[in-house]
Amino acid sequence: MSKGNIGVTSDNIFPVIKKFLYSDHEIFLRELVSNAVDATQKLKTLASVGEFKGESGDTTIRISIDKKKGTLTISDSGIGMTAEEIEKYINQIAFSGAEEFLEKYKNDAQAIIGHFGLGFYSSFMVSKKVEIFTQSFKDGAVAQHWSCKGDPEYTLEDTIKADRGTDIVLHIDDDNKDFLEETKIQELLTKYCKFLPVEIAFGKKKEWKDGKNVETDQDNIINNTNPAWTRKPADLKDEDYAAFYRELNPMSEDPLFHIHLNVDYPFNLTGILYFPKIKNNIDMQRNKIQLYSNQVYVTDHVENIVPEYLTLLHGVIDSPDIPLNVSRSYLQSDGNVKKISSHITKKVADRLQEIFKTDRPEFEQKWDNLKVFIQYGMLSDEKFYERAEKFALLKNVDGKYFTFEEYKALVGENQKDKNGDLIYLYANNSDEQYSYIQHAQDKGYDVLIMDGQLDVHVVSQLEQKFEKTRFVRVDSDVIDKIIEKDEAAKVSLTDDQRDALVAVFDSQIPVVEKTNFIVTFEQLSPTANPVFVTQNEFMRRMKEMSSLQGGMMSFYGEMPDSYNLVVNTAHPVIEKLLSDEETACGAEVSPVAAELHEVKTKHDKLKDSHKGKKDEEIPTAEKDELSELTKQIDELGEKKKAVYKTYATGNKQVRQLIDLALLANNMLKGEALANFVKRSVELL
Ligand code: ADP
Repeated sequence: MSKGNIGVTSDNIFPVIKKFLYSDHEIFLRELVSNAVDATQKLKTLASVGEFKGESGDTTIRISIDKKKGTLTISDSGIGMTAEEIEKYINQIAFSGAEEFLEKYKNDAQAIIGHFGLGFYSSFMVSKKVEIFTQSFKDGAVAQHWSCKGDPEYTLEDTIKADRGTDIVLHIDDDNKDFLEETKIQELLTKYCKFLPVEIAFGKKKEWKDGKNVETDQDNIINNTNPAWTRKPADLKDEDYAAFYRELNPMSEDPLFHIHLNVDYPFNLTGILYFPKIKNNIDMQRNKIQLYSNQVYVTDHVENIVPEYLTLLHGVIDSPDIPLNVSRSYLQSDGNVKKISSHITKKVADRLQEIFKTDRPEFEQKWDNLKVFIQYGMLSDEKFYERAEKFALLKNVDGKYFTFEEYKALVGENQKDKNGDLIYLYANNSDEQYSYIQHAQDKGYDVLIMDGQLDVHVVSQLEQKFEKTRFVRVDSDVIDKIIEKDEAAKVSLTDDQRDALVAVFDSQIPVVEKTNFIVTFEQLSPTANPVFVTQNEFMRRMKEMSSLQGGMMSFYGEMPDSYNLVVNTAHPVIEKLLSDEETACGAEVSPVAAELHEVKTKHDKLKDSHKGKKDEEIPTAEKDELSELTKQIDELGEKKKAVYKTYATGNKQVRQLIDLALLANNMLKGEALANFVKRSVELL
C-alpha cells in the first residue's frame, strides 16, 4: 500500500471544494456519471479499433444507495484505471496558478470545477470519504483501491475486483444526507442524465401487485440514450419530433413548428428548437431550452447563449464546444457562444421565412400564437427585424392577414390625410370598439386588430420604421378627425351657446372613478352620432406604456383617464336641444347674462386702466374693486350654470345622449347602466 499527498500546489483544495462550491453541490452526480459514461465509451472505441479484444458484456452504469453504510455508489464497466493511471489522473491535479485562480473564482463553483477538470473531486462536496475500486481492461492490470478522507492524504493499494470497470463509493457526510434518498437521486438523474448515451440503471423498475408497489427484476433505466436531436433529420418523422417534445415537456400543448439544428462548421451544434403556442404571458414561458454538452445536461438558463426573445422557444441545444462547466461571465465573452447565438437567430428566421413562403395558409393559421415571439424578436434585435419584416403579418378586424408591404398597398392611398400622412387605424378590442370600427369601415377604411401583449410597443416601432405613417386607435377621435381629408367644418356657436351646452352636458356626466371628461364640439355630418366619447391617442398610449414598464413612466400611470365628450353641433338633436334650452332658460338667464356682461365690461375697463402700471402704483381701493368684480363674475357664472343644470336635470334627453355615448364605448356600468335602462323604458 502506498500513501501520498494529492498533488495540488495549493495546500488544500478540499476546504475550497466544500466551502465555496456550496451552491452547486448536486452537480457532483453529473460529474461522476459523465466520467462513467466516458470510460464506457472509451472501451467501446477501443473495441472498435481492435485494441480491446475481450467481451464488452453489459455496460449499464449502475447507481445504488446503501442507507445502512451511508454510501452512494456509481459503478461502470468501462476501461477502469491502473495504479499508474490513478496516480496520473486522480492524484496529480493539474494545478498551475491555482491559488490566484481560486481567489478570483471562489464564488463560482462551475468555473473552478470546469477549469481544472475537478469533476471527480466534486464528490468531496458531499462526502466525508471517497473510495475508488477499479479494474483496468488492460491485460495483467491489478485492481486498485484508492481512498481519501477529504484531506490531501490518500491511500492506494492493490485489491481484488471481479469485474472490469470502476466503482466510485461516496461516504455521504452528515450535512448531505438527502443524497441518500432515492427520490432525490432519481430527481437528479432525471435532470442531469436523462439523455446520456450509455444506459444508466437506478435500482429496479417497480410495479403494482396486489395493492403494493413491488420491485420487478427489470432495471430501472433512467435515460434515453438516443434522443431525437442526435439523429439525422432525414430519419425523423413529424411524430418523432412531437414525441420528443412531449418527452421534454410532458405537460405542454403541442408546439407549432420545430427547427432541427445541425452544424459542424465552424463549431459543433445540434439541437431541436420548438415554437410553442404563446398565449398571454410571455414571462411564463421562459427557460424551456436545455443546454447539453455531448448529451450531458449543462443548464436550462440559456439567456447568455441565445438572444433573449429566443428563450421563448423550447427544446434542446447540444454543443461540445460549450464547456460542461460554464460560468455566466465566461459564456458572455466566449467567441463560440456568440457565433452559436447568431447562427441560431439566422436559422430561426430562415425557418419562419420558409414556412411563410411554402405554406402561407399554415403560417397565417399559426400567426396568432406565433406573433408575440416574432414581435419580441423584431423589437429586441434589429437583425431579426430586417429578416422578419418580410413575413411579419398585420391582421385586420375581419381576420385577414397582410404583410407590411401588402397592407401599405391596401390603404396607402385611401387613408392618407390632408397632410399626406398615412393613417393606420387599429382597434384593440373589436367588441368594445364596435361602433367606431363601423364608422371607419363605412368610410371605406380598414381597421387592424392590435390586441397582443406587445402591440403597444410594436405600434411605436412601426411608426418609426414606416415613413410618414401614424397608428391611431379608432376610438381616439371621430373618424373624420382621425383621417382629416379637408379643413374641418367650423363649429358655429356663440360664446353664450357654447357656455350653455358645456354647462348642460357637464352637469349630467355620471361620475366614473379616476376618469375625467371634457366637453368639446365638432361640426360633423348631421347623420353622424350626436354625442361621442373619444380618448386622446397620445395620452392613452403613455398610460399603456406606463402600465407595461412602470418606473419613469409611472407619472402617466397615476393620472386619471381623460376622455372627450364630443358634441356634434350639426346633428338635428343637438340643434333642437340648443333652441329648446334657449326657450326654456332664456327668461331666467338673460337678466343674469346682462348683469354678467355689465360686470365684465367694468372689470375689463378697470383692468385696462392698469396696463403698464407697476403693482405699487395701483391704489388699494382699485385693487379691492377688481377682486370684488372677479368674485361677482364667478358668482354670476355659477348662477347661470345652475339654471342650465336645473334645465338639464329635468331634460331626460341630455342624460340619454351622454349614456348612449358611454354605452357605445363600453363605459356605462353599474348604477348608471341600470338608470339608463329605466329611463329608456320611461321614454318609450
Ligand atoms: P475530467 O473528467 O474532466 O478529465 P475528472 O477529475 O472527472 O476530470 O477525471 C480525471 C480523470 O480520471 C479522467 O479524465 C479519467 O481519465 C479518470 N477517470 C475518472 N473517472 C473514471 C472512471 N469512472 N473510469 C475510468 N477513468 C476515470
